[in-house]
Amino acid sequence: MKIICVGRNYGAHIAELDNERPEHPILFLKPDTAILLKKQPFFIPDFSDDVHHEVEILVKITKIGKHIDRKFAHKYYDEIGLGIDFTARDLQASLKEKGLPWEKAKAFDGAAVVGNFVSKKTFQDVNDINFSLKKNGEEVQKGNTGLMLWKIDALIEYISKYFTIKIGDIIFTGTPSGVSKVNPNDTLTGYIEGKENFSIKVK
Ligand code: ZN
Repeated sequence: MKIICVGRNYGAHIAELDNERPEHPILFLKPDTAILLKKQPFFIPDFSDDVHHEVEILVKITKIGKHIDRKFAHKYYDEIGLGIDFTARDLQASLKEKGLPWEKAKAFDGAAVVGNFVSKKTFQDVNDINFSLKKNGEEVQKGNTGLMLWKIDALIEYISKYFTIKIGDIIFTGTPSGVSKVNPNDTLTGYIEGKENFSIKVK
């Protein structure tokens, strides 16, 4: 399986990092080795002093497809989840400055937290899902999928122009504002519609 991540999909997050609003979705991949094993803590890698949490809504692909039209995209996923796209911000900044790929800052071991998936039928509208992240019990990030610049179906259309999507692939749909540094002993807890979805310890 592969993980397809979307960058800069929320206006407020683009503003907090002083980035430009993209003309098209920004895509990057994480390998399956980036998935943090269930119940394991996240270890801050020694090559970064500034690892940020990015809480994101996840979409699990249930059907193989390529060149999917937006109006059929809903047939390619049944479940929605929540996760964290851990980012070594210092390393990413130096790679970005040199125009180099971001993978070392985004795709390292443990950099993808994949929480629990729930049926999309749980939600009245996948474009109106509230989610949030607490760090040590304090809310740091809060988003609603309605604020995405490109909504889930538009992302599937765009992604599948470039990559065949396969059963089990996961899309990370981008983070809202409020990203910040994680420190040893932090606890990060993710919520969808106020319900706890995952909780992880930082070491
Ligand atoms: Zn992200």
